[in-house]
Amino acid sequence: MRFADLCETFERLEATPKRLEMRSILVDLIRPLRPPDLGRVLYLAQGLLRPEYEGVELGMADSLARRAVATATHTDDSVVAKRTKESGDLGTTTGELLAGVRRLDETTPLRVAEVYSELSRIAEAKGTGSQETKVQILSELLVRASALEGKFLVRFVLGTLRVGVREMTILDALAEAFGDGTKETRRQIEAAFNLCSDLELVAGVLVEKGVEGLTSVSLEVGRPMRAMLAEREKDLAAVLKRMDGRAAFEYKYDGLRVQAHIPKSGPVRLFSRRLEEISAQFPELVEELPRTVRSVPAILEGECVPIDPDTDEIQPFQQVSRRRGRKHDLERVRDEVPVCLFVFDVFLLGGAPVFGRPFPERRALLEKALTPTERVRLAVQRVVTKEEDAQSFFDEAIAAGGEGIVAKSLAEGSAYRAGARGFWWIKYKREYSAGLSDSIDGVVVGGFQGRGRRAGRFGAFLLAVYNPKLDRFESFCKVGSGFDDAQLAEMPKRLHRYEVDERPPEVVTGLTPDRWIRPAVVLEVRGAELTLSPVHRAGLGAIRAGAGLALRFPRFTGRFRDDRSATEATATSELLAMYRSQVRQETPEPTPDAD
Ligand code: ATP
Repeated sequence: MRFADLCETFERLEATPKRLEMRSILVDLIRPLRPPDLGRVLYLAQGLLRPEYEGVELGMADSLARRAVATATHTDDSVVAKRTKESGDLGTTTGELLAGVRRLDETTPLRVAEVYSELSRIAEAKGTGSQETKVQILSELLVRASALEGKFLVRFVLGTLRVGVREMTILDALAEAFGDGTKETRRQIEAAFNLCSDLELVAGVLVEKGVEGLTSVSLEVGRPMRAMLAEREKDLAAVLKRMDGRAAFEYKYDGLRVQAHIPKSGPVRLFSRRLEEISAQFPELVEELPRTVRSVPAILEGECVPIDPDTDEIQPFQQVSRRRGRKHDLERVRDEVPVCLFVFDVFLLGGAPVFGRPFPERRALLEKALTPTERVRLAVQRVVTKEEDAQSFFDEAIAAGGEGIVAKSLAEGSAYRAGARGFWWIKYKREYSAGLSDSIDGVVVGGFQGRGRRAGRFGAFLLAVYNPKLDRFESFCKVGSGFDDAQLAEMPKRLHRYEVDERPPEVVTGLTPDRWIRPAVVLEVRGAELTLSPVHRAGLGAIRAGAGLALRFPRFTGRFRDDRSATEATATSELLAMYRSQVRQETPEPTPDAD
């Protein structure tokens, strides 16, 4: 195919805002094409060279592209820069400049195959001298390009192509160009695409083997499958009802969704929800996964969340987003913010696809295949049939640092549905517009042995508020964050005189610390919000039967309240008032995603 023909189609696509018209232009474009041109055209139209998950980037900075344009059109770099400022787009300026340059008569027309391979060379150029190579390849293409071709070439390398063709429109066009255009054909094409995320592969199979051939497209290690998505319900009763009264409830961890591909040999690859490769961000998972999974090759899915290395508690999501930072910071952040992958599904095990099996079978396979470690664990799950159990599981999930629950269907038809949002999974979470503004003075009633850097001494403390009516100390959090080394070293000295072997009778809690401490030392803490918890006992039953209040993501402010005795700590009634005022700030769920 001539590149000029493709560019003319791009021009027409750019001009239409209508999806139907766009589809018919696309159908005309691709119908006569065969692999390998077909795949190349499908990628070029999206501004890509390869499927998105391969992460191939052209990596051409504006200044480099400008230099290539200047060379090819014999124009001074500063003139190109000035005209680009005026037009607002280097692509447009390139077109204008090329229109004024007489092309050599013997110039052979550019073909798609050649342009594609030259653009791939630009993408592959790495290391010293690569910038020069990129400039040279582009300028050699531009010398042979028409004004229109030049405009699109430059927009392509800059990543500013505005053709507007997206995957779903391409799937429509494929169904019409190479199938009978029916809904069923379209569905089959999309199903194959959801499995392999590779349009070139799907289009190739469709052309060569027809719609029936699509069943040969399978799941493969290294090629991410599109994620299954959850629906929402208004409350937990509605969730259970929708699931016919019985569902597997899981903590909804608040982190990054990760699809882990573990080959028989070679490195593990991790993909994000958007199917970008993120292996480099989580080297510890890449290392640990082969040790935890027994039958490889395997593909697992889970949520990656930050864990406090000292207390093993889940940390706020923001911490893990810091992992997106620059490469050389990674080692430092890796130690500061270790992560844990909570695995919740399996697609491939021992090389065999299992995503089509009902969820209870997949979970059973997962439990058998996975040897949990510090970094890789199973998502906490409980099969629930009663509303009150659903509620207490939800409270437990929030108190453990989750953002809610995901309820999963246990029905025969509960296969993993790649790329689909449906009621097979229902999420229910609570969101607050603001965190807790006030600090809380908590009494230390227990100590937990530290881990990691804090091994051999206390790493976290159980805190309680005072309930004057019942004259007792009721636990509301376990805090390990916010202490510097000196403060942590000081804690045993402060607590030593109060350590006892048995739970002091005035202390009530559902947790068992490594050491009990008589109420005396008061610490100031802050947290994200107050939640209901099945293990903490502050204000037990005041909001809901069986549940106490817990402080989520507690953090020591650094202030020892030596000016306060234990009974002068924050009172249960104050905590309840804080909880109630916080509930009034609750915001509605955001509107469903557009995807
Ligand atoms: P959200 O923004 O609510 O996380 P989303 O649009 O990213 O939603 P949904 O499929 O609607 O995705 O909601 C489920 C999300 O919850 C998943 O994307 C996943 O990242 C996360 N998650 C956390 N824990 C689980 C779990 N146990 N099972 C399934 N998904 C979980």
